[in-house]
Order: sequence, then C-alpha cells, then structure tokens
Amino acid sequence: MKYLFVTGGVVSSLGKGLAAAALGTLLEHRGLKVILQKFDPYLNVDPGTMSPFQHGEVYVLDDGAETDLDLGHYERFTNCNLSKLNNLTSGQVYETVLRKERRGDYLGNTVQVIPHVTDVIKGRIHEVARKMDGDIIITEIGGTTGDIEGLPFLEALRQFQDEVGHENVAFIHVTLVPFIKAAGELKTKPTQQSVAKLREIGIAPKIIICRAEHPVDNESRNKIAMFCNVPRENVIQFLDVEDTIYEAPLKLHEENLDGIVCRALNLETPEPDLTEYSTTVQRIIKPSHRVRIAVVGKYIELQDAYKSIYESITLAGAANDCGVDIIRIDAEEMVNGGAKEHLTGINGILIPGGFGDRGIEGKVAAAQFARENGIPFFGLCLGMQIATIEFARHVCGLDKANSIEFDPNTPHPVICLMEDQKEVTDKGASMRLGTWEACLREGSRARDLYGRDSVNERHRHRYEFNDLYKEELENAGLLVSGTSPDGTLAEIVEIPDHPFFLAVQFHPEFQSKPGKPHPLFKGFVAATLAKKLGA
Ligand code: GLN
Repeated sequence: MKYLFVTGGVVSSLGKGLAAAALGTLLEHRGLKVILQKFDPYLNVDPGTMSPFQHGEVYVLDDGAETDLDLGHYERFTNCNLSKLNNLTSGQVYETVLRKERRGDYLGNTVQVIPHVTDVIKGRIHEVARKMDGDIIITEIGGTTGDIEGLPFLEALRQFQDEVGHENVAFIHVTLVPFIKAAGELKTKPTQQSVAKLREIGIAPKIIICRAEHPVDNESRNKIAMFCNVPRENVIQFLDVEDTIYEAPLKLHEENLDGIVCRALNLETPEPDLTEYSTTVQRIIKPSHRVRIAVVGKYIELQDAYKSIYESITLAGAANDCGVDIIRIDAEEMVNGGAKEHLTGINGILIPGGFGDRGIEGKVAAAQFARENGIPFFGLCLGMQIATIEFARHVCGLDKANSIEFDPNTPHPVICLMEDQKEVTDKGASMRLGTWEACLREGSRARDLYGRDSVNERHRHRYEFNDLYKEELENAGLLVSGTSPDGTLAEIVEIPDHPFFLAVQFHPEFQSKPGKPHPLFKGFVAATLAKKLGA
C-alpha cells in the first residue's frame, strides 16, 4: 500500500479536497485502485450536528455516516465507495481515547497526546489499509498547517512514515501563492513559511501544489523549490478552473501531477487515457441548450450548503447536452405572491432537504406554483414532505395539513414520526440514515427513469409520510410510486398527470458522477428542457 497525505497551507478554502479528489481521478485512469479519506481536526464527533452556515452540506454515506462535504468530491471523482472509516475527526479520536481510559485499558498510565492520541490516528490509517481493497490511500488533512488542532494529526503522520517506510509515503502541500497587485508579483513567502512549519514537525513535503489566480512563473517555481527543498519539477500550479470543477483533473494532468506522484512513490503505471473524461467535461462547458432551474431553499447564499445538489444538476445537464443556470431563491421570498414573481420564466423548480420551520410556507407556495403551472418539479427529502403538504392542503382540501415537525398540533399530520422514533430525543445521529431499499411501482415515472424495480438510496431524515393519508392523496392524484420493501414507508411520490412532478424522501444527490448522472436528476433536467423547447 502507498500513502499520500494532502496538507494545506496559508489559508483555508484552497480546494484541497478537490485537488485530492482530482488526483484520485487521474490515478484511477492510470489503473490504480484509489482509496480516499479525510481527517478533520475539529472536536465535533461528526458534522451531522453542525449548521450548514458553518460547515456547508453534510454528506451522507451508504452506511449512514454523516461526513464532510469533501467526501462528496471523493465519491464523485472516483469509484471509491466510502464508509464511516473514511472520515476521522478529533472528536472521534478523543471519544475513543476517553472510552479506553474509562475502561482502564491504559493500565494506570498517564494518557497523553503522544502516544495515545497519535496511536488512534495511525490506527485508523492501518485499519483502512487492512479493510479496504486498494493500491493507494489519499488522506486529506483538514484545516491549515499551523492550526493547534491539526498538530496531533501531523505528529501521527510523522510517526507513520517511519513505520511504513518513507518510500511508501508522500506528502503533498497545497498552498496559496498570492499575487500582489501593487508590486505586480506573485509572492512565495507564505508558502516558504508554511512548508517551514511542516518541516519543523518533521514532515517534508515531496510535492507542492500552488493555488494561484495568475500563472506561476519559472522564477517563483525555482524559489519555492529551493526554499522548500523539493525538486523543481515537483512544484506545480493549480489555477482557478474557469468553467467547471470537473476540469481540475485535466488541469492537474497538464502539470503532470499524476506522473510526479507515481514517480515519488515508485509506482509503475501507464499514462492515463483521459479522452472519455475530457468529452464529458467538454459537454459541461459547451452545451447546445440552456435551461433555468430554481433551487428554493434556506441556505441559498452559501456556496456549499447544497453542494451535491448543484453538482448533480450540472452533471445531469451534461448528459442532456444542456447547461443549467441555477437560480438560487430564498424560500422566504415565495410568500405573498412572491412565487409568481420569482418563478415565472423558470424551467424547473427544485426544493432541497432541510430542517426547521423557517421558509416552509414559501416552499409550499413554490410547490403549488410548479404543480398548478405544469413546471417540472423535483423535491428532495424535505422537498417531498413539502409536496405532500401542499397537495393535501390545496387538492384534498385538508387546509391545515402539515408535518408535525412544523406544527405539532396540526389536525392533519400528513408527515409524522413513526411510533418507534417517538422516544428519541438525542439530536446526534437519531435519524433514518444511510442506504435503504425502495421498491418502485410498475408503470410509474420513477420506475421508468431508473429502468429497474428496486433501488438503494441514501437517507437523512426523522419524519415520514403518514400512511393513514395515502389512500386519500392517491385518490386525488398523488401517486406513491416508491416504498420500502415492506410497503410501509413512502419513498417517492409523483403526479402522473403533470409534465414532471416527482419528489423523493431520500437524497439522490449523493449518487452522481461525471458521465454517470443520477437517473432522476437526468430525467428532471430532460423535462425542464422539453418544457422549454415545447413552450
Ligand atoms: N426535516 C425533515 C425530517 O427530518 C427533512 C430532513 C431532510 O430534508 N434531510 O424528516
């Protein structure tokens, strides 16, 4: 097994996760089996309880682990199927150490960061190497070099390279090379200093990826190579991608990152054939058509809160040769006639998942507008609950229909808690999480789009469609087209008598890849395009 560690320097938000994922794409194209994982130095046990304002989207894995959104990049850019093993936080590390301490496992010894905390960190890498099948593990270390929380991780990795042999390990440092306008120059000093910090700890990066807005000239590369003690050809640039993040592997390949990595780790692999990948990227960059899709949500001002949804829309667009302008609209703007004002001229409406009652009435208004005006509609998780509430209220005449999440005293709890959930009060990991099977109804749109009669999809929610209202809603035209295998939980609802009105209790956005978009997203974008061309 070979090990690559990706650290970040100077500032956060450099796109380390994207660089790691893009490198994964390249190494897979060289025939290697790649495993990706992320170490997050914060003390939360997982990001499941963190606000999207602080942390962006929570990315859910097949086994129900609630993880950092970088794992979404990993799964989209590679074939690696991740589990809770692949995201380790300081919170988990300390939880493990303290549990052992209470159990008496340390036999009266003083429990310390070195070796006890570092042992748990190293243990995780060994565990991944043992349990997952692969040639190389790429581990991204969250945060920035110099952060206090990151130190135990870096120390663990320093020890780790001695254990497995330095020839099997390479550190890649992703750093910022800023351009100072007044001087008209790129500056390498911050990079020198952050690499110096790593070397102080005993870690010497073999490869430096310079994030920059301007091409990194030879002089700057020479300087970085010299001051950071790396070969000149191992200093590469990673400029901002212009059109789409899916260009990242191509850009990094132009700089021969994959070649450098293989050389650094003594891996003999053929040059990657990126023809097919480039074709997909070209289709994202230069589509023949364009549509406008509104995402009506609560965190629309944040780039990262609906990351996987935006990516899934883009990837589904490429499969339809169709670029998508995503119009992000705050749900609170939808009430009092706002829906008509904001949604007129839109080709499709998507309501994402969410928690809490802010913006709910606005989302109901948006769903109503889509249903009544024949605009393609796609609801995800909360989006399905909203579609159900809207239909119950305005088609079935159940005026005050609601989810008990938003109105515990509603006379028509069309979305409710299952009996066995009522006792759960803990907010961390108290939801239906991870992959569950759904069986699809013969003749339904869902069945048609998937092209199969049962699917596995990822979940993250507490509340469920209330079966007591199923007959009434179905009689009025809202078909339950997907259910749990035992038929008790509604997984998909749709309105057959509408150009495209489909909503799902799960999160299909977690299963899209370039060239392999999610079938429901693909169908949704196709419907928006048909609607536009037909209009
Ligand atoms: N708040 C809803 C629930 O808990 C929906 C969750 C979601 O959209 N992820 O059921």
